[in-house]
Formats: sequence, C-alpha cells, structure tokens
Amino acid sequence: MSLEKLLLPQSVAIIGASRVQGKVGYEIVSNILSGGFTGPVHPVNPKADEILGLECFPSVAAIGGPVDLAVICLPSPAVDKTILECGKAGIRAAIVITAGFKEIGEEGRKLEDRLVRTARQAGVRILGPNCLGLISTHVNLNASFAPLMPRQGSIAMISQSGALIAGILDKAQEGKIGFSYVVSVGNKAELDEEELLRAFAADPKTRVIAGYIENITEGEKFLRTAERVVPEKPVVLVKAGSTAAGTKAAFSHTGSLAGSEAAYECAFRRSGIIRAASIEDLFDLAQAFAEQPLPIGRRIAVITNAGGPGIMAADACEKANLTFRVLSESAVQKLQEVLPAAASTNNPVDVLGDADETRYENTLRIVMSDEGVDAALVLLTPQAMTHPAETAEAIARVYREVRKTVLVSFIGSKLVEGGIEILRENGIPQFPSPERAARALQAMADYVDWCSQPPRVIHRIPTHRVRVEKTIRRHRALGQTEVGEQAAKDILEAYGFIVPESILARNVDEARSAAERIGYPVVIKIASQDISHKSDVGGVRVGLENEEELIDGFELMMLRIQRKLPEARLDGVTVQEMKAGGREVIIGMTRDPQFGPLLVFGLGGIHVEVLKDVAFELAPITEEEACAMIERTKTFKLLRGVRGEKGVDTDTIAESLRRISQLSVDFPEILELDINPLKVTGTEAIAVDGRIRLCAD
Ligand code: ADP
Ligand code: MG
Repeated sequence: MSLEKLLLPQSVAIIGASRVQGKVGYEIVSNILSGGFTGPVHPVNPKADEILGLECFPSVAAIGGPVDLAVICLPSPAVDKTILECGKAGIRAAIVITAGFKEIGEEGRKLEDRLVRTARQAGVRILGPNCLGLISTHVNLNASFAPLMPRQGSIAMISQSGALIAGILDKAQEGKIGFSYVVSVGNKAELDEEELLRAFAADPKTRVIAGYIENITEGEKFLRTAERVVPEKPVVLVKAGSTAAGTKAAFSHTGSLAGSEAAYECAFRRSGIIRAASIEDLFDLAQAFAEQPLPIGRRIAVITNAGGPGIMAADACEKANLTFRVLSESAVQKLQEVLPAAASTNNPVDVLGDADETRYENTLRIVMSDEGVDAALVLLTPQAMTHPAETAEAIARVYREVRKTVLVSFIGSKLVEGGIEILRENGIPQFPSPERAARALQAMADYVDWCSQPPRVIHRIPTHRVRVEKTIRRHRALGQTEVGEQAAKDILEAYGFIVPESILARNVDEARSAAERIGYPVVIKIASQDISHKSDVGGVRVGLENEEELIDGFELMMLRIQRKLPEARLDGVTVQEMKAGGREVIIGMTRDPQFGPLLVFGLGGIHVEVLKDVAFELAPITEEEACAMIERTKTFKLLRGVRGEKGVDTDTIAESLRRISQLSVDFPEILELDINPLKVTGTEAIAVDGRIRLCAD
C-alpha cells in the first residue's frame, strides 16, 4: 500500500507535545497512549523533559531512532520549518493538525502554498493541515484529538469535517461499528481523497470505503480513480450540498439549470459511487457492505412475526426494485412441516406472533437454502412469546451455515436491545426499520449490477472538425466569446445537425429576396451580437406567410428594437426557413470546473427554467447513457405521446446528445452551448436556435 508510513506507522513523534491537559498537543499524546499503540512514541518539546511518562525530545533531530510519522501541533508559522526538519530526520509522513491556513483567508493560503512546496522538497507527505488527525485501528493508533478509539473493522472512513468524526466515533461506539482507518483530511493541501481512495483500494484490511465530502479537489482525476476502485470495493459517500453556481450571470439556459450538485450527481453515477443521503444512511450502507457477503441477485425473502412490518418490508422492497420472490415448491413444503397451520408460507413468511427462536431458526434455514433466494430480511417485533436474544443467536447460527446475505430489523427498543447486541457481535447488520434494511439491500444489489455491467463504449460520429476549428479561431481572433445564432448553427451543422436554411438580410430588400429564395412561410430573427435572448426583445417573428407580412414584420422589428435597445449593434435580420410542427426540447452543455462538460436534456421552450424537468450527464456519453438521460425526465413520456397523441423520435434526440457530447470533448474552448429549442418530429431533430460561449483565452 502506498502511504504506508502514514496509515500503518511503526513509530510516531508528536511535535508540539504539551504537558498542559486540554491542549491539543497533550490530548494527542494521551490518545495515542490510551489507544494502545505499541510502537515507540516520542513527544517533542524543547521546554519539557517528560510528557505523560514519556521521554521528551528538544527537537526532531534529537530523537535519534527512526520515526515513521510525525504529528504536528505547532502554531501555523512554525509548521513549515518543522517539515524541513522532519525531512532531514528521514520522516516521510506528517499529520498537520494545526489550523490557521487556507481556511482563514489570503494570508493562510500563502502559508499553505509554502507548506506544500516545502513538503514536496523535503519528501514528506502531509495530511491536513487543519485536521483532526488519523486513526488506524490495526496498529492501535489514535493520532487524533478525538478521545474514542473505535474497534477494528473493515470500513475506511475519510472525512472533510473533523468535528463530524468526533460525532461519528461516538455513534460507532454504540453501534459497535468497526473501522480500518478514520482519516480527517482537513484542508487537503497535499493529500486528498483521490489518493486515499487509491490507498484504501489496495489495502487488504479495508472492504468498504466511506466518506463525508464537501468538495472534490480534482474532479476528473478523482472520477477516473473511482471508476477503477469501485469494481474492487464499494465506495459510499455523503456529499454535503454546495451552493449552486447560480450566482454567476447565466449566459445559457443550460448554465442556469446546472448547479454544481448536478455534476456531482453525474460523477457519482458514472463511477458507481454510492451516494448516501445522510450520515445515518452512510453507516447503514457501509455496515451492510462491510459485514455481509454481496447478494448474487435481487431476489429477496422476508421472514416476520407480525403482519404489519411484513407489508412495510414488501412495499419497501418493491420501491427498492428488489424482486419479491415466490418461494420454491419444496421450500414451501418444508415450511409447512415446521410452521403452524395458521402461518403464511408465502413470501413474506409470517411465523406468527408466538414464534420462538426454534421456529425462526427452522424457517430461516429453509428460506435461505432456497436456490431462488439471494438475500433474506428477518423482522421481529417483541411480543409476549418472543425471545429476541435467543432468536438473534439462532439467526447467527443459520448465517454461519448458509453464508448468504441476511439483514435484520428488530423493531423496538429496550426489549430488543439484547438481541441487537448479539447480532452486532456476529456481524449481522441490524436496522431500526424494514425500510432502512431494504435500502441497504438495494444498495448492495445495485452495486452487484453495476460491477457486472459491460464496459462503456463511446462511438465517434464522423464530423467536420476543421470547419468548427475555423469558426472558433475567427471568433477568438476578434476577441468574441459569444458565438451568435448564425455561427453557432454553422458549428452545429458541421457536427451533423440539421439547421433551417438561413440568410442574413441587412435591409428590407435583402429580406425580400432571401424570403423569395427560401420560400414562404419564413421566420425572421434579429441579428445582433448584443442580443442573446431574441424573443425577450421582440426579435423573433414566425410564420410570415407572404411579402406583405415580411415587410411589416421587418420594419416593426427594427423600429421596436432600436427604440428599446438604442445601444445595440444591429446587423439586420436572419430570414429562416420555417420548420413547423414537432416538439421543442432543449439540449446543451455547460463546463463544470471540476468534472468537465456536463450535458443537459429537458423540455424546451420558455418553461424550461420553471419546470426544471431536466437530466444531466457528463460527456462523453455512450448511446445507452444518452437514451437513459432522456428516459429519466417526465418529458420523455410526453415525447412518446400521451392519450393517442403521435410520439416523436427520441432516438434522434439521443443522437443529438452524442453529437454535442463529442463537440464539447473535441473543443475544450467551448464553455457553454445551448440548442433551445431542438425541434423534434417523427423522424428528425432540427436545431432552430443555437448559442455558444467560448472561453476568453
Ligand atoms: P430566442 O431563444 O433567442 O428567443 P429562438 O430562435 O429560440 O429565439 O426563437 C424563439 C422561438 O421561435 C423558438 O422557441 C421556436 O418556437 C420558434 N422558432 C424559431 N425559429 C424557428 C424556425 N426556423 N422554425 C419554426 N419555429 C421557429
Ligand atoms: Mg431559443
């Protein structure tokens, strides 16, 4: 494993160790000792001879012996020099607990940048700064200022909030949740979640990687790593909501629709990261993955001693897309032999309110041995004849024999406490409600599905790339970042889009002959680099049937807009072929600063920003992903036609999405792109409007 000196150190120095109880430098020494770390522990403090019974050294150099890991709790200006000293003394890893870096503003940022440079020079890897520290249970190391040492286990936890770790450890104590590592990443100046992910993927003691993150530092790199790691180990993350990128003046519809949340959502889906809804959910899922074998399929059986919870479980399983199996004939027969006549031998199997541990045990054994059952969910409510503790023992016995996924929900509190304790000792996840158990099973089944999906294949579509290069170069040479409708459509056409025939007309005569060429009815639109949303200023007239209407329309449009926007530079109008009929959808792209091109699809027209019925996906996309994106929206049903309406061809939309996917991958200069609307008929998709924004340099 890389990062071995950090994660599994054999010896530790605490630089800035203190004799004063309550100070971080004291608490860390105290936690390392009480955690039971077996290697040498060296406090460093020039003003002390001894701390907590340990010999104290005046400097790192004075220690003499080898040190794997330094824990630094000095004031921020002193950290830099200390890292150099660590490097000289051969220490290759350091945890910087100290705060007062990037999180305090510009001054701190400078200090942090310097710290990173120094660390690289000195060859010291650093965790933090501004972090709570690290717990590594397999070497009994609690190098943090959280006083609780969790039990050994196979969950590796990464947290961007130190304070949250303290809470999690407290909770874990009660739930007997075991960890391999708990890492507080702090400001992530040098070591970030991506590298930890790689380290944990390679670590034999870790089965599942859990995390609380607020932001990801290098999105695309993280994504690539996650894609590699997830098939080996499940990764479950809670992502705290960040403010949407809505504050920036939105140039395109796509830009205003996509907050940064959408990009995270897509990144997680793409890489198979399981997103937990809350800390509670995070531990439900992490525990299920850590303790139980993965189910080979989605077929689930429920055993219960009460009707109500059985129904709740059945509902929850259905919502979770799990298959509620009818048990095999032989299983039903065997159940009839061991259960009273009044019991239900159908799934959910109702063992009745007076079921004791033997009845539970016999039933569970039969159900779990059924070839058609991939996982069992055992429910229990404490009734007069119920023995929760003995039943828990019985469940554990069957689980040890059959080794299939089994999750349990003992519903209650005091009466079921003893039973829950036994389940935990036996590595059987216990959930307070059938819904939470079903949710955990769903995550496991989804993960299995995800791991067995075929590799993604991106097919390239032939396009006129050079034509786009030229158009972009021309705009950039003129310092124009906004590509107006005409040129945007030219780019789209080069990437295979159908666009209505269109001619620029600078005056009414030109408009007349353009319309003549195109043929009535026509559409006219204002042509101006200063106007981006044309309808808003009365800059679009559709369905002009003849010359008279065209002349009227032209003159009125010019007059109105000149009056409304006297500053705007007007080039005239574009006269366009009228494309009647079809449905209007929006497709577009906005470049996410972390994850790159984010594609959008949704219902088009003026209501898009109100209804927000949109789906996102990161480019590049496969054919399947393009179709799935469309199917995720409610618009999809409308497009397919409701109540006898004729539907439109959604495959052409999927293809259009793949075209803009390829365009945004081919041209990183394109920051935003909007086709609103894309008019879709029974057979084709036409880009009747387009706008593109380029980056400035
Ligand atoms: P903007 O979005 O700048 O206001 P659009 O070019 O999207 O301008 O035009 C507004 C609306 O006019 C479109 O949503 C579409 O309904 C209609 N429209 C525009 N161009 C055409 C065309 N060539 N054929 C048919 N309808 C059109
Ligand atoms: Mg438009």
